[in-house]
Amino acid sequence: MLNMKTVSECASIFKITPEDASSLSDEELVMLLIHDKIPARELERILGDTTRAVQIRRALILHSTNSKTLEGPLLPMHGYDYGHVLGRCCENVIGYIPLPVGVAGPFNVDGESLYLPMATTEECLVASTSRGCKAINTGGGATTVLLADCMTRAPCVEFPSIIQASACKKWLEGHGFKKMQDAFRSTSRFCSLLKIKAAVAGRLVYIRFSASTGDAMGMNMVTKGSERALEELGKWFPTMSIVSLSGNYCTDKKSAAINWIEGRGKSVVAEAVIPGKVVECVLGTTVAALVELNLNKNLIGSAMAGAIGGFNAHAANILTAIYLATGQDPAQNVQSSACITLMKATNNGQDLLINCTMPSIEVGTFGGGTVLPPQASMLDLLGVRGPHAESPGANAQRLARIICAGVMAGELSLCAALATGNLVESHRILNRPPPCPIDRLTPH
Ligand code: NAP
Repeated sequence: MLNMKTVSECASIFKITPEDASSLSDEELVMLLIHDKIPARELERILGDTTRAVQIRRALILHSTNSKTLEGPLLPMHGYDYGHVLGRCCENVIGYIPLPVGVAGPFNVDGESLYLPMATTEECLVASTSRGCKAINTGGGATTVLLADCMTRAPCVEFPSIIQASACKKWLEGHGFKKMQDAFRSTSRFCSLLKIKAAVAGRLVYIRFSASTGDAMGMNMVTKGSERALEELGKWFPTMSIVSLSGNYCTDKKSAAINWIEGRGKSVVAEAVIPGKVVECVLGTTVAALVELNLNKNLIGSAMAGAIGGFNAHAANILTAIYLATGQDPAQNVQSSACITLMKATNNGQDLLINCTMPSIEVGTFGGGTVLPPQASMLDLLGVRGPHAESPGANAQRLARIICAGVMAGELSLCAALATGNLVESHRILNRPPPCPIDRLTPH
């Protein structure tokens, strides 16, 4: 501290050779940040050392606030490869949040035995899903089917008249489709335009592009394709002006009927038959009670509430836990969790038939957060990490099918707990350790 350089001395070093930033002490770098000589978001690039950048950003926050939170190790900083995060997953990084990951299973999905990785802080969720897996396994496991696979982006464009707006819709859904397809193809090796749905509102046209995106969830890819397609569209309709590259008719990360009806990402169905004896022994209830509960809660109750895609008990719980464990975009749980759970008695009323239909599971096994090593390792656990070697898209489709089956296991178990009235009791028994004061928390 005694030989600390002044702000102008530091800034001058910095101006001459940015690489020399490594010769500055942490205190000197914080001083430069405070005096706006370097932007905090650029620290990684300037220092060429991602962990030191995190350390200095924390020191800056310590200096500029009264909070001592970042002084200690409660928010971990070390032991993380920030190189995977930089420019891809997060900006202004100050550390990472460890989340517990549990597994539900083993679980037989389409003849393959696997364990579902679930990152959650909700008590009983993993245990309950595991119970659902066990019950489903005894009946031969879950069967899944992929109904459709396309990610969407819907720009909004405007015309000087309703005549031109409707002409554009007609062109897009007719002769123009091939031109739009070619435009999409020029932006990616894996993004292929499959469908266009255009909706007119006065002089506005909402163009919902639907494209297959291989093993990537595809939001960036479809956005790039849409941008290129609009350039091409402008050549055919020169009076058109672009209002927004996303016009909310997509619809991403917001509840909307269009995804429920038309699908977005992967549309999947999962089904299983549970022997009546297993319903009684493993789930502690009866086929008739489960069918009745499902009707009254998931169908009539949700209809009474005016649900859009919410005809389920807790699909979001299982889906979000798997999303977090496998590096999916967690904000997409809004639409991805849309699910209708159906139950009926089968085999002369002896056994339970359950299925879950989920029209908009937005997942990828490549790109976004899936490249982070812990998340990638959980995809590995499921045998679906990265791009599929022979058939692009097969890994992401398999992941969506596994998630739908997992949701079905969770639905079965929770509905059973509700049917027997033991939901509160199981939470009480499974998870009530004494509270842990924050000052006793130590990271591992
Ligand atoms: P991306 O990482 O932007 O793109 C996938 C990349 O992987 C492309 O460069 C693609 O090649 C390449 N690739 C290699 N093998 C592939 C294969 N088998 N299948 C598919 N792609 C393959 O991923 P993205 O899924 O489009 O975007 C995901 C990110 O978008 C997430 O971080 C998410 O949080 C974010 N996001 C963006 C928006 C938005 O509006 N832009 C909205 C929501 C979320 P090509 O270069 O040939 O295509």
